[in-house]
Amino acid sequence: MKTYAFGIDLGGTTVKLGLFKTSGELVEKWEISSRTENHGEHLLPDIAGALLDKLAERNIPVSEVEGAGMGVPGAVLRDSYVKPCVNLDQWGGFDVAAEMEKLCGFPVKILNDANAAALGEMGHGSGKGCKNMVFVTLGTGVGGGIVVDGKLLAGVHGAGGEIGHIKVVEGSDRVCGCGKTGCLEQYASATGIVKSAKELLADPEVETALRQYDPLTCKDIFDCAAKGDKAAIQLADEMCRLLGKALASVSCVCDPEVIVVGGGVARAGQPLLDGIQKAFRQYAFPAAEDTAFALASLGNDAGICGGVQMILTK
Ligand SMILES: [Zn+2]
Repeated sequence: MKTYAFGIDLGGTTVKLGLFKTSGELVEKWEISSRTENHGEHLLPDIAGALLDKLAERNIPVSEVEGAGMGVPGAVLRDSYVKPCVNLDQWGGFDVAAEMEKLCGFPVKILNDANAAALGEMGHGSGKGCKNMVFVTLGTGVGGGIVVDGKLLAGVHGAGGEIGHIKVVEGSDRVCGCGKTGCLEQYASATGIVKSAKELLADPEVETALRQYDPLTCKDIFDCAAKGDKAAIQLADEMCRLLGKALASVSCVCDPEVIVVGGGVARAGQPLLDGIQKAFRQYAFPAAEDTAFALASLGNDAGICGGVQMILTK
């Protein structure tokens, strides 16, 4: 194997980049802004330029680069083709790996961003040492990544690990970004729990401190729940119940060693994790009831760590 590899995390506002040694050590990380206008026409040239500039700055020849792995916010087929991404002005619909290879001169692999974070947590974070892991990220949406025998379960249609789109509520009127209704994402994301709160607070009889907050955020709900606010506790419990139920179903398919919970909502910390685990135990197949749970530990670095992991574990 050559000496260096890159991990890239392409997001809607910034691109995070990491130069790694192929031993796994992070040499340097930095960011550039994501120019998404005109269907993201500048994205790949900007990223390739940043990588090649970094190599020039450090006097590293392109021939010393094993490759780059890049996480993107959308569905990915065959580690290369990206379906149009909503967050990137519909950028996508082509073979991104082939285009990047042309611009960079070294091999490139593409993966979904939540899948990248899963690989990152497995290689460097809370799933370190595990070969079977489920990662769920709770942010604006709910993303997921499943690792089986050390390899990502990306699937054939780019739907592998899409835990956020497991149906958890029948007859729901919440239409998901995917076009269907009743998806976990509509109830267990930062925006989902706020929707649930608005429904609950529509009843004027409900006494709660949550009415003071405008706009109300997911963090306010967890803070109030920690202070004993009954409505907030009800909302947090229901979110944990649906997550525990969905993850128990996932565990019936892939039976992981550990379930790692990350994303902005996970800043609610141990109470959130305990709530999910309690619900999980209620729904899980008995043999899997004691599955370990952990909070993600890499934060913003999960994506670049996962990208490079894709190159190192080929
Ligand atoms: Zn959905």
